[in-house]
Amino acid sequence: MSANLPVIRPQCAQHGAMEFRLGQTLEQTWCGAWYACSSPRCQTAALIPSMGLTAQLITQERTA
Ligand SMILES: [Zn+2]
Repeated sequence: MSANLPVIRPQCAQHGAMEFRLGQTLEQTWCGAWYACSSPRCQTAALIPSMGLTAQLITQERTA
């Protein structure tokens, strides 16, 4: 285990550590860091929300 890895790196329940993936669109990239399982047949993916997305979600909660 490396101390340089992000603490919040997602894990696939079946296959372990997930790999960082660049967003396919500007919108995806803006939303944050995407992670996908390294197993080819596994569709598991996870998103670590960016600061921008987190701020927008908080704003939506306050105005809803
Ligand atoms: Zn998996």
